[in-house]
Amino acid sequence: MTNKIKIQQMSIPQFEAMFPDDDACKAFLVQTRWPNGVCCPRCASVNVYALKTMPFKWECMDCADGTSYRFSVLVGTIFENTNKGLRQWFRIIHTMLTSKKGVSAHQIYRTMGFGSYRTAWSICHKIRTALMDGEFQKLMGIVEMDQTFVGGKAKNRHKDKRGDGPGTGGGTGRGPTGKTAVIGAVQRKGNVVARVVERLDGPAIHNFLRASVSDKVSLLCTDAWKAHRNIGNEFPHHAMVNHRAGQYVIGAVHTNTIEGFWSLVKRGVIGTYHKVSAKYLPLYVAEFQFRYNNRLNADIFGAAVAGC
Ligand SMILES: [Zn+2]
Repeated sequence: MTNKIKIQQMSIPQFEAMFPDDDACKAFLVQTRWPNGVCCPRCASVNVYALKTMPFKWECMDCADGTSYRFSVLVGTIFENTNKGLRQWFRIIHTMLTSKKGVSAHQIYRTMGFGSYRTAWSICHKIRTALMDGEFQKLMGIVEMDQTFVGGKAKNRHKDKRGDGPGTGGGTGRGPTGKTAVIGAVQRKGNVVARVVERLDGPAIHNFLRASVSDKVSLLCTDAWKAHRNIGNEFPHHAMVNHRAGQYVIGAVHTNTIEGFWSLVKRGVIGTYHKVSAKYLPLYVAEFQFRYNNRLNADIFGAAVAGC
């Protein structure tokens, strides 16, 4: 299956032209954070004035009398209290967003010339956390829902296509041991939602669907795994393809789009990160989700910074 996911991106020369120094980055952050004018991060007042001698710093006139509250553009962002310049952060965000399979903390450590791997790792994780939130709308139209397993030992990788993996017998569903389950749904030509779950079973699937998919969905496609069989009770337009019976596409009913997303995530996790612990998998999944959902967004960089 091909994954023709085109991400709108700034090129490196465009990045250099747009962000020649830290001040340019700070000016961009001011615009992104406060598109309607600077306001106090503490009390939200717009009654603030810029400190003449200190660029990108303001004082709030409405915070309690006698205490002059001063704040910089960095306060309350992930860029606060770090010894790395904003331009370095921006460069890392840009690198992360431009690489389809992601970029490892090791790559960042080497290319940014940081003194410690730990610093690179921590910055990458802070950025991923920022990409995690954001406005969320339930999926509509034609939606595909599926599950996959990520991680585990290399020799088990060919068993990633669940169902044919050895069951754990522990009730964790359809996958091999040592792997983490992820449930995902994608709206065709739209967004993807993917969540790591501790346990893959009927209730987990139903909770996921309720949270992510509108009940006004016009078609909800899944495969014919037994935990999917009563989805139709809540989503009347549910249709299944039976992969075991060799069915993959019946008219509009298929799960190729979500499977394409899974293969992106897996190629990223195996090819770029080599190994991701279950604890941090939600962050990596969020990163892939963000890139996918902003693949047509000309200002994907701005969208990322807005979440920081
Ligand atoms: Zn204030």
